[in-house]
Amino acid sequence: MKDPNCLFCKIIDGVLPSVKVYESANVLAFLDVNPVEKGHVLVVPKRHWPTIADLPVSDSCDIRCAEELMYIMRVVAKAVSSSFADGVNVLQANGGCAGQTVPHLHFHVIPRYGKEPVQPVWRSGAGKYTGEEERDLFAKRISEAVNCIVAEERIVK
Ligand code: 5GP
Ligand code: ZN
Repeated sequence: MKDPNCLFCKIIDGVLPSVKVYESANVLAFLDVNPVEKGHVLVVPKRHWPTIADLPVSDSCDIRCAEELMYIMRVVAKAVSSSFADGVNVLQANGGCAGQTVPHLHFHVIPRYGKEPVQPVWRSGAGKYTGEEERDLFAKRISEAVNCIVAEERIVK
């Protein structure tokens, strides 16, 4: 499953070049062309899933690919942090407003160096609720939507 207009599908197919650090039948990991830090890796599935919401829940072959994606993301993070970095961020964006620029699911594995903590992309406390009522409304919305999706996808329960 590929999208002929997708940048990462083109990289996976070798139509566009990349500096690969790992490749299997299901997963490719390559250096980001615009690294946030030296050693910045992108870990991508070879199937064209635009966001994390598109990860499969039914087809067993696709689920194995998704599992391998998670596993390799972990291994790359472990490899980077155990071999040359002081720490590592694993980041993943879904949708333009979350900062996603390439609509093919990918994990950023970003090595960090030195002792100074980086500024995270979020600002802790910036999304304060107006009060308990609003807080509980968000909790209810999320909880109802989670239960609805779990029931629809019938994976757990
Ligand atoms: P996003 O903003 O979608 O989370 O991340 C997309 C990432 O893809 C960016 O960090 C960007 O630097 C990287 N990128 C964009 N085009 C290319 C390319 O042609 N080759 C490689 N290796 N990385 C790319
Ligand atoms: Zn793609």
